[in-house]
Amino acid sequence: MKRVVAIDGPSGAGKSTISRMLADRLGFQFLDTGALYRALGMYLDRKGISHLDSDEVLSSGIGDVKIELSGEKIFLEGQDVSGLIRTPAAGHLASVFSARRPVREYLFSLQRNAAIKDDIVAEGRDMTTVVFPDAWAKFFLDASVEERARRRYQQLLEKGMNITMDQALSDIRDRDQRDSNRDIAPLKKAEDSILIDSTDISISEVVEEMLKKLPA
Ligand code: C5P
Repeated sequence: MKRVVAIDGPSGAGKSTISRMLADRLGFQFLDTGALYRALGMYLDRKGISHLDSDEVLSSGIGDVKIELSGEKIFLEGQDVSGLIRTPAAGHLASVFSARRPVREYLFSLQRNAAIKDDIVAEGRDMTTVVFPDAWAKFFLDASVEERARRRYQQLLEKGMNITMDQALSDIRDRDQRDSNRDIAPLKKAEDSILIDSTDISISEVVEEMLKKLPA
């Protein structure tokens, strides 16, 4: 296992942007685990499988799905779905399917394997607690729910998506509720992870603060 900077936190805390910048600064690979959940959720939905189906149906639905990460791009069965997975609908699918054991088990090894040959910055909801509990460095990124909703709203508007601030806020609240209260791998701060609240500081200030806190 190479060096892993593991980062968890709720939706809209700026994890992807911050992790990408940190990876660039360190010369590490960036592992966006939300993208894996989004792609797998989309795959199962396309097959007509529901997150309410049994474990058996989910496991056989997952079968030998091919999900590949190549730099910033993600391929599902050979199709580049990097843009398609960024819609609120795909986020919702990721969130409901990610509460199911077969989905988490399937993605567990894919995520662990990413750290076999490369140093990585991995971000998600259970990086510090389940996937990389012995990571070289661990962080929990947080921000107020209003600030996270404002960022999400801005991001989606920039992508030309039709969304109101109220919808963004209610989507973030739903995700917080689901991600923190599920039975398997709920979002929580690991005791030994460093908490950084980005409500009132800029993304680059967060990155600088994280760089200072890395092991020597
Ligand atoms: O981070 P992102 O918004 O792309 O994640 C989409 C959803 O995937 C999250 O709301 C969460 O339910 C799920 N997820 C997860 N564990 C991870 C990464 C994402 O459960 N490590």
